[in-house]
Amino acid sequence: MSEKPCNVEDIKKAADILINARHAIAFTGAGISTESGIPDFRGPQGLWKQYSPEIATIDYFLNHPKDFWLFYRMRMSTLFVAKPNRAHYAVAELERLGIIKAVITQNVDGLHQAAGSKNVIELHGTMKRAVCIACGRTYPMEVVIKKIDSGQIPPLCDECGGILKPDTVLFGEPVKDFDRARELALMSDAVLVIGSSLSVYPAAYIPIFVKEMGGKVIIINMEPTELDYIADVIIQCKAGDAMTLLLREVKERLGIQQ
Ligand code: NAD
Repeated sequence: MSEKPCNVEDIKKAADILINARHAIAFTGAGISTESGIPDFRGPQGLWKQYSPEIATIDYFLNHPKDFWLFYRMRMSTLFVAKPNRAHYAVAELERLGIIKAVITQNVDGLHQAAGSKNVIELHGTMKRAVCIACGRTYPMEVVIKKIDSGQIPPLCDECGGILKPDTVLFGEPVKDFDRARELALMSDAVLVIGSSLSVYPAAYIPIFVKEMGGKVIIINMEPTELDYIADVIIQCKAGDAMTLLLREVKERLGIQQ
């Protein structure tokens, strides 16, 4: 894993692209949240080094809801206390400045919204909520955590007794809001990818759509990604460092005092 400093020339090239874009979007993955203490899946400290990805499949959930929730409860103890980091705040500020029009994220941690991003599409849902698989009633995750911690595992719906499931997209389930995300990508002339291995589909089509429409692709990731070959700029360093420098560069060009 590269811990090297960000290349300043690459940051400048990325700022050029964003400043000149008519409609830029951000596309983020688990790597933007590791500096908030949430492990990613496939990075060197990733969850899949410890657990089998099978645990995050819909089949596993349906066949072993108790084990699933024991795993998820453990995962939530990190996810729930996490705070946005410099990269989330920089993305939110780029939106306030009108440089980025929307954030399409694969993350379920809600940290973009916590940092102030307004237009966020959560392709893989949110862990802030659970949903009854029988009647569709939703519950704030705080309520579900109380059920689990008082011994109801798996947690059940108060209404119909059905099993509750995190409102996240498990492997084997369709992603959410993909049509809206695709439309946004197709109207964009730049995409800023932050912290994604770009290996999970259909989410990873988002930068491909932008590229196919003639747009520019900037990738910020500590390791090479599966789609480096379509990138116009690759910034291989920590997301927090890269986004701090990129925001500074963009503000300088906009003549904003820092
Ligand atoms: P991934 O684990 O496949 O890839 C993350 C990438 O980020 C890796 O290539 C890693 O090298 C890089 N990275 C890690 N820390 C970084 C940092 N500080 N700066 C820059 N790069 C860094 O994650 P993905 O591409 O998002 O895969 C998609 C799946 O991961 C989705 O299903 C998503 O729902 C799920 N996921 C979400 C969370 C979350 O909500 N925070 C956490 C784990 C997994």
